[in-house]
Amino acid sequence: MHILVTNDDGIASPALMQLKQQLTPFGRVTIIAPDRNQSATSQALTLHRPLRIHALGEDVYSVDGTPTDCVLVAFHGKMVERPDLVVSGINHGPNMGEDVFYSGTVAAAIEGALQGVPAIAASLVTRQASDFAEPAMLVARLLRQVLSQGMPERMLLNVNFPFRAMADLAGVELTRLGTRVYEDTLVKKVDPRGREYYWIGGEDPIWRPEPGTDYHAVHSGHVSVTPMHLNLTDHASITTMASWALSL
Ligand code: MN
Repeated sequence: MHILVTNDDGIASPALMQLKQQLTPFGRVTIIAPDRNQSATSQALTLHRPLRIHALGEDVYSVDGTPTDCVLVAFHGKMVERPDLVVSGINHGPNMGEDVFYSGTVAAAIEGALQGVPAIAASLVTRQASDFAEPAMLVARLLRQVLSQGMPERMLLNVNFPFRAMADLAGVELTRLGTRVYEDTLVKKVDPRGREYYWIGGEDPIWRPEPGTDYHAVHSGHVSVTPMHLNLTDHASITTMASWALSL
């Protein structure tokens, strides 16, 4: 088995090597990650300039692009054998609820699924400086179980780890994506040249504390595992909108 490990925090994240170490018993592990932090770049592709790839060590590469670029390089760059699985992370910070739409970490896993292989996105729910050794170990434990069940192609798991020692975790919970209460703020200031600028900011997201959601699981000390699919079609609305009789 050939596993692609990528992330959106960039090649300098210690989580990459910690994942590589934990996943090596499953097969060959190749790291292809952005050369800098690409958090919140979602599924962006670099189309208007070339991509440069640097070999940094055995099976370790950086790309001056997005997480999705990295996955495309792995599948179509003819540099490495085709991956059988994509593991993205471990992200420094949560990727829960609607935030999956912004996340480069989740996007890389989505790209893996789009390329036809199973994929896991993993995130550690903290903003504090962190070590990823224990979550990396848990990714391997979860992976062993899902592979033994036969993880289907194009399956995507979004995993969020509470920020607590492994011994203090309450267990693992299968969840649905939660709902975020948007309190984003745009900070307006003036730069040293007297020009106004805006900076997207805001407090940590607030969530509706609904049981069964990723947010609820993590905040009760559980590792959250959300199976995701990529079909955003609102099937119920196809039925209700039929009565609108839209016409041209
Ligand atoms: Mn990130």
